[in-house]
Amino acid sequence: MPFIALLGVPGAGKGTQAKRLSAALALPHVSSGDLFRENLKHGTPIGQEAEKYLSRGELVPDAITIEMIEERLAQTDGAAGAILDGFPRTARQADALENMAGGSLRAAVHVEVPIERLVERMAGRRVCREQGHVYHTKHKPPKEWGICDIDGSELYQRDDDKPETVRHRLKVYEEQTAPLVEYYRERGVLVTVNGDQPIEAVTEAILSSLEQEATS
Ligand code: AMP
Repeated sequence: MPFIALLGVPGAGKGTQAKRLSAALALPHVSSGDLFRENLKHGTPIGQEAEKYLSRGELVPDAITIEMIEERLAQTDGAAGAILDGFPRTARQADALENMAGGSLRAAVHVEVPIERLVERMAGRRVCREQGHVYHTKHKPPKEWGICDIDGSELYQRDDDKPETVRHRLKVYEEQTAPLVEYYRERGVLVTVNGDQPIEAVTEAILSSLEQEATS
């Protein structure tokens, strides 16, 4: 079974699409950001180390990130394939993924969204405390204000979704992650989709591009 990596600026909708692809393709959803937030919540050594980077919108050092993902993919459900959301984000992580996934990285999907949409998308994003379910004040409001529809926990705004940190995260993306688009284009596995459309249409576009890849 394959690995599919999602690339895109923070706020492009990678997490939303990753969950939908995970259901459609029966592959586990592995989100490096969610794993860091889980570690933070439980006060693990990884969480303690990662906290200062997350709060500033910086990338966590490669060695820690790669080890965390390797451990996650070593679990039985991840060994054969996964939808990778937020990993890789640097050239070194991409090289590490090549070692982990070997020839089974089927596609790197670049979800493209115009920069001017992002601050609005991220300013409205709310996440539930319990399990990280994602809402948007305008585009996907919960049934009851401030409460998760699924598990009833409180919704909050991630510290790193505040406008100053968002701007910094976009800069970090441009410097460190954007070059991966070329990296994957050169390897012939890049798929680009327009992320500036309704959620369902983006998923359809990704799935049909993956089908075309498989038959070409
Ligand atoms: P995300 O939820 O994907 O936006 O990630 C939130 C934060 O977690 C990022 O701003 C980074 O601080 C950290 N993070 C997530 N994925 C990675 C990664 N692949 N490499 C380094 N840091 C990461």
